[in-house]
Amino acid sequence: MTGGRFGVHGGQYIPETLMNAVLELEDAYNRYKDDSQFNSELTELFNEYAGRPSRLYLAAHMTKDLGGARVYLKREDLNHTGSHKINNVLGQVLLAKKMGKKRVIAETGAGQHGVATATAAALMGLECEIFMGREDTERQALNVYRMKLLGACVHEVTSGTATLKDAVSETMREWTNRIEDTHYVLGSVMGPHPFPTIVRDFQAVISKEIKEQLMEKEGRLPDVVMACVGGGSNAIGTFYHFIEDESVKLIGCEAAGRGINTAETAATISVGSLGIFHGMKSYFCQDKYGQIAPVYSISAGLDYPGIGPEHAYLHDIGRAEYVPVTDEEAVEAFEYLSQKEGIIPAIESAHAVAYARKIVPHMDKNQIVVITISGRGDKDCAAIARYRGEDIYE
Ligand SMILES: *Cc1c(COP(=O)(O)O)cnc(C)c1O
Repeated sequence: MTGGRFGVHGGQYIPETLMNAVLELEDAYNRYKDDSQFNSELTELFNEYAGRPSRLYLAAHMTKDLGGARVYLKREDLNHTGSHKINNVLGQVLLAKKMGKKRVIAETGAGQHGVATATAAALMGLECEIFMGREDTERQALNVYRMKLLGACVHEVTSGTATLKDAVSETMREWTNRIEDTHYVLGSVMGPHPFPTIVRDFQAVISKEIKEQLMEKEGRLPDVVMACVGGGSNAIGTFYHFIEDESVKLIGCEAAGRGINTAETAATISVGSLGIFHGMKSYFCQDKYGQIAPVYSISAGLDYPGIGPEHAYLHDIGRAEYVPVTDEEAVEAFEYLSQKEGIIPAIESAHAVAYARKIVPHMDKNQIVVITISGRGDKDCAAIARYRGEDIYE
């Protein structure tokens, strides 16, 4: 790895004051990533605490209904705390502990990553502080309560648009203030090197399991693996062990919001351009002056104005395909999976289900598609009801 580049993307575009922190992190990660003790502790946490391996479920009704390829669901929604985020967080908090850190800090948008980080900090006995935009603390009061219940301190961020991107900036600033005893648990495959690599390695357990489970059930590789993309951590986790298998198509589903022809979108690959933000070079939604554009999606987990550098690279070389999915398509898929399979997906994950509904009918009956269900949808029920014009208690 040369400076954490993926083609032209990635790198370390950070103030000098953070350089020591990321170098220390890179050293520690290189020391522990192949350490058998570290890996057996992490596997124990994955299995005994998070509930891995997550199931690979044959969605028989969906398969029959769509009349094309066989559809499998990778059930990350069944993990402790309800999404794939726990994979990354257990890895990073364990690493922080090995590094002798006493305190972890993290950004959060809707609160899912904040809750997962507070959970792992409670488990491993570290202090925890979460930075969250004021807009989001108001929209996601229940998650703020959860984080506090788990023993974390929650800071409201009022700068900028007071949402996720501002929370990331504020957490980076806080890290420069106190690097000796603090680790920044970044929530997706973004930010300066080594974060995109660390987070990807901890999430790669998803594709490792898919490969083993599908080999057992079908004796072969899938034809397509697909996942939703915000920063891109569940998607890169889903892709990683298939990148070398050229026959496997990799599809990332971005949030188009109200459509890629409107300003209310978060589909970075579709509408973004090359830029530098949050310590990395990648694609970002920007205005004509190169300022980061406000983004929108019905799904709070996908409305980040950038995409991880490894995805930007996989897009450049044509290895993975990135497609936009609108709010309306995602809401329909949210209802579809609930009714067809009795599985309520996170609205983020529903973006991948929506695109599968488009392509599966055109595929052959002996082909196989795996969709990662990144999280469960309980958190989204009130918002989707509202979208459909029904007001219910949250
Ligand atoms: C946070 C989140 C996402 C988006 O993050 P990625 O890093 O792109 O995976 C997707 N789904 C769920 C359920 C989430 O909580």
